[in-house]
Amino acid sequence: MDEETTVYDELGVPRVVNAAGTKTRIGGSLIRPEAVEAMSRAAESFVRLSDLQVRAGELVSEVTGAEAGYVGSGAAACMTLAAAAAIAGDDLGAMSRLPDTEGVPSEIVMPRTHRNGYDHAFRAAGATIVDVGNNDNYLGTGSNGTEPWELAEAITEETAAVGYMEKAFSAPSLETVVDVAHDHDVPVIVDAAAEVPPRENLSAFVEAGADMVVFSGGKAIRGPQTTGILAGKREYVRSAALQHLDMHVAESVWDPPSELFDKESLAGVPRQGIGRTLKVGKEELVGLIAALEAFVEEDQAALDAEWERRLDVVADELADCEGLSLRREPGGKLMVAPELRVEVHPDAAGVDAVELVGSLRKEDPRIFVGSDELQDDLFAVNPMCLDDEEAAYVAERIRSYL
Ligand SMILES: *Cc1c(COP(=O)(O)O)cnc(C)c1O
Repeated sequence: MDEETTVYDELGVPRVVNAAGTKTRIGGSLIRPEAVEAMSRAAESFVRLSDLQVRAGELVSEVTGAEAGYVGSGAAACMTLAAAAAIAGDDLGAMSRLPDTEGVPSEIVMPRTHRNGYDHAFRAAGATIVDVGNNDNYLGTGSNGTEPWELAEAITEETAAVGYMEKAFSAPSLETVVDVAHDHDVPVIVDAAAEVPPRENLSAFVEAGADMVVFSGGKAIRGPQTTGILAGKREYVRSAALQHLDMHVAESVWDPPSELFDKESLAGVPRQGIGRTLKVGKEELVGLIAALEAFVEEDQAALDAEWERRLDVVADELADCEGLSLRREPGGKLMVAPELRVEVHPDAAGVDAVELVGSLRKEDPRIFVGSDELQDDLFAVNPMCLDDEEAAYVAERIRSYL
């Protein structure tokens, strides 16, 4: 493995060998070199951030097929901006009162099975989540998690939007949910933070009729960790921009880009909005632009082959280990990358999955493997954030505990 001294070594902070995939808590992904270079150049001069947002928005619009685009400080931040846009629209008074939503519709209806920790980001804008559906999928009753009529029933005068978490297993289908929401004249916000690659997904949810879609800039797109993409209808992107941009401006000379909003149509300057806490710097904006441009040009087949090869290295090294069963899961619909699932049989292995995964994390460098299925004595090796040397190192360290 690369013995070069990292900045983390210099700081006395243990670095991480990442065999877990693009997880924010261990640094997400590695920013593309072309994005790092662009960020460093961005740091050399000034720019008006609203002008740069226009340029980023054009690219987002081009690659997603949405009417407009915007960049926030993460996919979660973009969920807050999307909720704020759905609640306040063009109402400057409502913008200034958020997260107090008195007098304006502020409920976000969600299928109950779509709720997750990130819906705090909706609530941060002042939204109240109304979840519907039942969880008796597992009873074998033929019931679905949420029926379309249940969503329709929950949409009232108080509804600002319908929230949808996009995963390959999400039900009802996005098309169905869009139909129900649009029948009731409310927008649909889709959390698709981690749903690329495939790159086709950049436009898939807009095509399915979603009004706003968010993606993380710091996962497989490999832009700065602190960026997220909001793609959607112009009216919502306009509202998001008004609530996000720094608004300490002198109104008499304020000349915001007309691509974002029309100054003449505003009663005044809305001042610092709910999104102001989610600011994005010029360096991050430039980095995201460079990363997104590279991501859409990337040779996905070559990358898939590289990921498979890296898993081969790990699988070969672990193949003859007593107490481990290996299974390859292809990438594709359920996961963005292929993974090696490793089942640990504690009696034969002499260690259980929890001990093994816990010990790897305590090493220096720390080694993180996928730990979503520890309760079933399974861990996973994800190749997205490894290089070849690290893949061999991870396998060797796993072996050492058996
Ligand atoms: C990663 C993730 C987010 C948050 O993305 P950030 O860019 O880190 O803010 C939100 N929702 C889901 C489903 C995610 O996987």
